[in-house]
This record gives sequence, C-alpha cells and structure tokens, in this order.
Amino acid sequence: MAHGHMIPTLDMAKLVASRGVKATIVTTPLNKSVFSKSIQRNKHLGLEIDIRLITFQAVENGLPEGCERLDLVPSQDLFFNFLKATAMMQETLEQLIEECRPNCLVSDMLFPWTTDSAAKFNIPRLVFYGTSYFSLCGGQSNRLNKPFKNVSSDSETFVVPNLPHQIKLTRTQLSPLDQSDEESVMSMMMKLVRESDLKSYRVIFNSFYELEDYVEHYTKVLGRNAWAICPLSLCNMDIEDKAERGKQSSIDNHECMKWLDSKKSSSVIYVCFGSIANFTASQLHELAMGIEASGQEFIWVVRTDQQDNKDWFPEGFEERTKEKGLIIRGWAPQVLILDHEAVGAFVTHCGWNSTLEGISAGIPMVTWPLSAEQFFNEKLVTEVLKTGVGLGSMLWQTTPCEGVKREAIAKAIKRVIVGEEAEEFRNRAKEYKEMARQAVEEGGSSYCGLSNLLHDLSTYSSTCMTPEND
Ligand code: UDP
Repeated sequence: MAHGHMIPTLDMAKLVASRGVKATIVTTPLNKSVFSKSIQRNKHLGLEIDIRLITFQAVENGLPEGCERLDLVPSQDLFFNFLKATAMMQETLEQLIEECRPNCLVSDMLFPWTTDSAAKFNIPRLVFYGTSYFSLCGGQSNRLNKPFKNVSSDSETFVVPNLPHQIKLTRTQLSPLDQSDEESVMSMMMKLVRESDLKSYRVIFNSFYELEDYVEHYTKVLGRNAWAICPLSLCNMDIEDKAERGKQSSIDNHECMKWLDSKKSSSVIYVCFGSIANFTASQLHELAMGIEASGQEFIWVVRTDQQDNKDWFPEGFEERTKEKGLIIRGWAPQVLILDHEAVGAFVTHCGWNSTLEGISAGIPMVTWPLSAEQFFNEKLVTEVLKTGVGLGSMLWQTTPCEGVKREAIAKAIKRVIVGEEAEEFRNRAKEYKEMARQAVEEGGSSYCGLSNLLHDLSTYSSTCMTPEND
C-alpha cells in the first residue's frame, strides 16, 4: 500500500484497539517503519496492536528490489507485476491467519484475493476504502455509463449521470481507472475489486455520515452495506501521534508550532500535495510565484525527491519570503499544522486523507487535484460543501501538471483568506469541523457505526465459531 493507505490503516488499528479489540497489522519489511514507532507508543497507552511481516517478492515478479509500495512502481507497465506480487502474499497471509486466529480480516480494497483467505477460515472480511463515498459513486457511474464518450474534446464537460448533485467533469479530470477499456489491467482489477466487495461482509469508509449524503446512494447503487467509522485522523489524541503519521517530520515539531504561534489567527496558508504527487520544475516555479504574489504567510512542504529540486525556486524567492514563509523540505507534521489556529487555508491535491484532515480542522481549501479520484474530492469540497476554491487543474498523466498559472493561484489563495467571501468559507468549514468532532464522540454517528459493527462481528463470530476455532 502507498502511504495514503497505510496511515488510515494504522489509525483504524488504534481506533479499534481503543475500543478493546486486539488489532494485528500485516505489512511488508520495507513498510514496517510506517507503523512500528506509533505501535510502541500506543502500547504504553494500553492499546493492543501487533505487527506481522510478509515478504514481498518484488524481484521474483520483475520489479526493482524494494519495490514494496504502489508509489514505488517505476512505470505503469509494471502495474500487473505489482498486482501479481501482492497476490503471492496469499499463502503466507493464510499461515498467519492460522496462527493468529483473528475474528475478522480487514483488507484494503486493492487486495481482492483476501476474500478467499477469509472464506477458507470462515471469518468475515471487511473491505476498507480510504476514499470518499462520493468518488466511489461518481467513478462507478462513469464506468457504467461512459458519459465521457459523448464529448468531442478533452475540454468539453459532461455530467456524471445518476448522482444526487449535478457534477460536471472533463476527460482530463477522469481517473484512468474510470475510462480504461474493458481489457486493460486496471479495468480487470476494478472488476475483481467489485466482485470481492460483493462477497465481503461489510465495506468500511474513512468518512462520516454528516459529510456525505452519498452514503445511502452508495448502498442503493452498489448494493453494499457500507459503514462510515471516521474521520480516522481524529482518533489520534496523542500529540506525538498527530505529529508523526507515516514518517518522521523533517522539522522539529516544537519549532514549527512556535513559528505558527507567532502568526495571527487564520492568516497562514499551508501548501502540501501528499506523499506521491510529482510536479514539473516549471509548475513548481509557477506555484512559488503564485504563493509570493498572494502576499500571504505560508508553510510550504517541498518533497525532497521532487525532480530538479534545487533549480526551480525563482531567483531570490527564499530570501524575499523568509519573514513570511516556512519551507519544510521532506515530511511535515500535517495534522498538527492544520489544527493550529494560525492556519487559514490549505492548498491541497485533494488526496482523501488530506481532504478529510482539512475538513476535520475546519479550514477552507484551494484545490489542485492531480490524479485518481482527487477530482471528485475537489468537487465535493468546492461544489457540495462549498468550503473551497478550485484551480482548474487537470490530470497530471495527460498534461504533466502544466497549466495552473501564478495569477490563478494567488487569486484563489486570497479568495479563501481575505474578505467577506473568505469569512463565509471559514464559517462553513467550521460547521463541518464541528460535525466531524461530534461524529466520533460517544453517541455520534461514526462512534455508533463502529459500535454496531463490532457488535455484529461478535455475533458473527459466535454463530460461525466451530469447536476447534473456539
Ligand atoms: N502527510 C504528512 N506529511 C506530509 C505529507 C503527507 O503527514 O508532508 C500525510 C497526510 O497528513 C495524509 C497522507 O500523508 O494523511 C497523505 O494522504 P493523501 O490521501 O492526502 O494523499 P496521497 O499521499 O495518498 O496522494
């Protein structure tokens, strides 16, 4: 799994452990570090989380050594090899199940073969979707109805059919998963994913009922019993857990908070595009110019593996903005930053974790989606929740991230930070923050959703328990 899938997995383990359930995370050696420190910390807090490793056969499947995460696969041509390598983990996973005897298996959506493993041991399989209901409903509608076939150019818009809201997209905003032909590896993978969903006990989402009126639509359209048990990021009460999710911060967290403490309320923009997104040097240059032209104070997370990392900064940028800006090279304590009252807006690629973290922090967003289902998440923020402004970006695979101009960036940032309209964005965003908080509190929708799920699982276990399983 990529970071965007592992972080909520860890959060989910913590969440169920906090409700008295023992959780065991199964991962590969390379990815162990994403989980291990937090697990240690939480052990001291009394949460019972274990970790077990399965070897990932990268080289044997024609992948580079250490290619143990989707984001490390060097080209799309090797996607099939990656899927094969994940499926080869089945035997070892089953040995682990035999040994640990869990009551239930929670699987990421991308491992459809775990359905067979759960069936062999007569335990329920739950599928975890680290994305929004909204994007799943939209993606499914596009795959079934193919409305993009009715437009004559990439820039012409089409309406995504059969959704509660009228959502318009262009072909350049469509995930390859939703427009690939029937024979493609992606398409076959999605078919397997859907079939395995149907055979699973429940589908669980990192979302909450009050956020998306698509929960019922999802259940109706896809015929699956779906549960929203989140936002998962809110289960991190411990400050260290909030600060360090997935990787160690590249900045001293206290320094970062001290810097924010010196700023006015809702005045700083936070710019971060998750763990995978790659920009060209010229787009990074344009982004820097846009941030500077906005005149706002900022924290900007620059990935150190980003190409041409040294040369794309506009001349004198860092010197000119040193009073206004904090550049974090590497990994930022994102949730901690978003939760600080000085942060007034989030420039985001709309990865679902980032989107939810922004919503949970009650912050307006400037949306710059780049791939996968991020364009749907953008529409949710800008057109359904109305807590953000879009930049009109396109799929980076087709238009290598070119195209968003500094003027548009500066204008969008100002719209969500300064003036009356910004105040309206902020007020609406705060309402969703409150709803998110209430959802996970005792008696809230996600809290009760999880209670009911745990109750159902315990009933399932007692009805299906054979004497030797007992
Ligand atoms: N993240 C972080 N620090 C960073 C970059 C990302 O903590 O510098 C976390 C972020 O809080 C989120 C996850 O990494 O939980 C990124 O997931 P998302 O779904 O937003 O994007 P992806 O990386 O999958 O594109």
